[in-house]
Amino acid sequence: MVSLKVLNLREDPIGYLAGQTIDDAASTLVVFPTARNIRFFRKTLSGMSGDRTVISPYCLEISRFINQCLDPGGKALVDLRMRPFYLQHGIGRLRREQLAGLFRDSSKKMQEDFFEFAAAGSRILRFLDEIHAEKITADKLTKVSLYTDYEKHINILKDIGDSYRNALEEDGLTDIMFLKMGGAFLLDWLEDFKKVHFLVGGYLTGFELDLIKTIGHKKDVEIIVRYEGEPDKQTKKIFEAFSVDAPSMKSAPFPSAIEIRAFEEAAAQFGFIVHAVEHALRAGIPPDHIVVVLPDENTKRILFSLERKRIFNYAMGLDLKDTVWYSFLKSVEILFAERIGSSQYRSEPVINFLTHPFIRNLPAAGHWIDDFISEIKRENRLILNKSDFCKTEILRDVFSRIKSLVVPEGDACSYGGFLLDIAGFMEELESMLNPEFLQTISRSPEFAESRNAIMTWLYQSATLFHDNELRGAGALICLSYLLRQLSALTYSDVAGGTITVMGMLETRNIAFRAVIIPDMNEEMIPPRNEKEMFLNTAIRERLGIPAARDREGLARHYFMSLIKNAEMVFLSYVERDDRPIRSRFIEEILIQTGHTGDDPEWLRRRSEYEGLVFDCVCPPVGASMTDAIRKDETVLKYIDRMTLTPYKLSTYRRCSYKFYLAHIKNLEEPVEISGALEAMDIGNLLHRALKDVYDSGKQFSDAGRLYEKIREAVTREAEDGYDIIKISPHAAFELDVIMDKMYRFAEMEVERFGEGWRPEMLEYSLKMDLGGVSLSGRVDRIDIREGNGKKHAFVIDYKFANLSGMKSLRYDENFSGFQLPVYRLMLNNSRPDLDIEGIGYYDLKDKFKIVTVTEHGTAEDFRALLEKVIGEIRSADHGFIKTDDLRLCMYCGFATICGRR
Ligand code: SF4
Repeated sequence: MVSLKVLNLREDPIGYLAGQTIDDAASTLVVFPTARNIRFFRKTLSGMSGDRTVISPYCLEISRFINQCLDPGGKALVDLRMRPFYLQHGIGRLRREQLAGLFRDSSKKMQEDFFEFAAAGSRILRFLDEIHAEKITADKLTKVSLYTDYEKHINILKDIGDSYRNALEEDGLTDIMFLKMGGAFLLDWLEDFKKVHFLVGGYLTGFELDLIKTIGHKKDVEIIVRYEGEPDKQTKKIFEAFSVDAPSMKSAPFPSAIEIRAFEEAAAQFGFIVHAVEHALRAGIPPDHIVVVLPDENTKRILFSLERKRIFNYAMGLDLKDTVWYSFLKSVEILFAERIGSSQYRSEPVINFLTHPFIRNLPAAGHWIDDFISEIKRENRLILNKSDFCKTEILRDVFSRIKSLVVPEGDACSYGGFLLDIAGFMEELESMLNPEFLQTISRSPEFAESRNAIMTWLYQSATLFHDNELRGAGALICLSYLLRQLSALTYSDVAGGTITVMGMLETRNIAFRAVIIPDMNEEMIPPRNEKEMFLNTAIRERLGIPAARDREGLARHYFMSLIKNAEMVFLSYVERDDRPIRSRFIEEILIQTGHTGDDPEWLRRRSEYEGLVFDCVCPPVGASMTDAIRKDETVLKYIDRMTLTPYKLSTYRRCSYKFYLAHIKNLEEPVEISGALEAMDIGNLLHRALKDVYDSGKQFSDAGRLYEKIREAVTREAEDGYDIIKISPHAAFELDVIMDKMYRFAEMEVERFGEGWRPEMLEYSLKMDLGGVSLSGRVDRIDIREGNGKKHAFVIDYKFANLSGMKSLRYDENFSGFQLPVYRLMLNNSRPDLDIEGIGYYDLKDKFKIVTVTEHGTAEDFRALLEKVIGEIRSADHGFIKTDDLRLCMYCGFATICGRR
């Protein structure tokens, strides 16, 4: 006989079950929706037993229970990992025109290329799973989809299902989905139990209801459901299946302590989470009664990376795609997938590969890598040969080994064999790493656990797929498929703390005293409606299977159940124009507690913890840090030893915080490889070419001859170091246009030479001590001319940029253009014999002439200002402060670090 027990959302179903079964455990079976429910049940039971020794009833998770109840009819069940392969075999047997209605022009690809097929395959399997679990027959499906746009799809999917079944049967296998539809029950093993309890975790499928009915003919069965008010449609189905009237249940009140906060940045919610944890602990709630629920499980990556004390444990596991091994294999995949021909590699994937910790920690591999990367970034090299970046013997060995794995000789590739090779390679590579590095990472529980998870998976899957070929796939595709499979897997968080982090689904039937939920925005909670697979909402409703509305109801059920059982609730959401609005569940709380409309005041007043949010252990990420960074003894000593350049001085004046990051902390501003010809590239190219030309001769009277020399030098330089010009016709054209304009430069130069000027000092280095520090710099060019028994000089900086704003210098509080006046000061100091006539920029962009800089102030004014700035830099009284001029932050590579992006 089947009875239904209805509990209010505030009633603890696990506690109820423990009370029901404690005295008759030996003859009771309890079926739970999740393994976590079983753990909580056993814990509750032992808590209730006091001094008594109690045994636990036999507990099973619903999926295992179903497997035990179905007769596979002499066949073995197909492993989950093998399902896509058999499905594709099945599809391969269908006629292409049969498939065209579903896959259109991709039918051939779907049949022949496993990797292309994999994503569509998993959608088809999910659809077939659902249809079979709901016991929807082919006839019923055809009937409801008749004359709709879905009719054609349904017929193809039926054929695919049949073909998949045949492919399995040929190997003596079956899929649990087929048993659910028509398999026989194996229920003898239930003889030992007098009573079976089913705790529902959301709703029951058609198959599950049939199974329970069958068991109910022989046994006492109790189904426990929870809701408040009226049951939703899916819960009603359970009552209807057993001809029982569903009672109305009283709504439980919300807890009085709810804090809801809005944040502009998603990451800023982290501070709030820490505050919430601290507050719950201070209120006497033990850590294992506090839960952080993540509506978007991807957030766990941020939480994990920001929270260094490891107070959290991640019940959903940590993702293998965030591990060092995954990132290494991914870097290999990209490196080879983006190859040009068979022997050239794009520089970005190369950088990605070289900077991976495994490559950096090969013996003798680390020290040259940074220099090499800086060089190829500086030169903006886009294409590299193996010999360019495999600079050590051990790296060459590793690279050849990798190449033999992902680009083996011959085409045939067994996936099982490939997985074994990867496992072997992982072991080999580890044995090559620097022993100290290996020891260090091996001590990390995350590394050890994830490595173990990957290895176990590889060896088990290798056996499973032993002679299985991925259709249409070479080894590189095998690697891509392996990465796709690994990216969906997790490993246990063995080193986590006592506060649990969960996904919403995992909280089913469990109560916590403090509940913290960030990301309470629409599309996160309730989750965005995925496009209905193959059937629209109307057809789903006619078939009685869950549709979008039911899924939203389920999300509400989990949420309300969690917060109504808690004493303290902390909710946060992101409030920004480009994000979805706050969750409708927050609105429901507001309305049901009598606070209608958008009432942020209420949200704040409601909080009993206001103010405490600011004394979190960790400040909210992205919070503004306006306080100055103080200079301690070490920093002051460091400054005294450093050499100041005009660039450093300008940086200091514009943003002393940037000076601190770049020149005290020595952080590099990220330089990105660019796929376009940048102004900086052109500037550098012209600088080098002009130096080449004038190194070989300084006397030109013919503009045409000088122009030819410049063109030759530019072409030579471009060929040597600018891949972009080789591979981009647009970049080559752009350079050509610039070169045409350079004729004007040649003319101006010849005119200048006619006035007696010669480019005597090129890339000329200068040094000087001033105000207790060393100054240094390198001038692009110093022109000299003789006259009146003197040597006259002109200090020049080439510029491929717009010069407005640079042409005049005012030595006041806002001054930051140190370059030319510092050069002049140093030149004056080192070459008193020269009479410096002026300083100026050579405009290489538009006018091709020297623009003399006008100064508002004397050379002495400048020197006084410079000494003042140097004094400030050296003084402990002046900290490093972020600039107030946010325009500077827009182009600053440290904007992310500063929270200004
Ligand atoms: S982002 Fe702005 S505040 Fe930060 S270092 Fe750069 S310029 Fe300074």
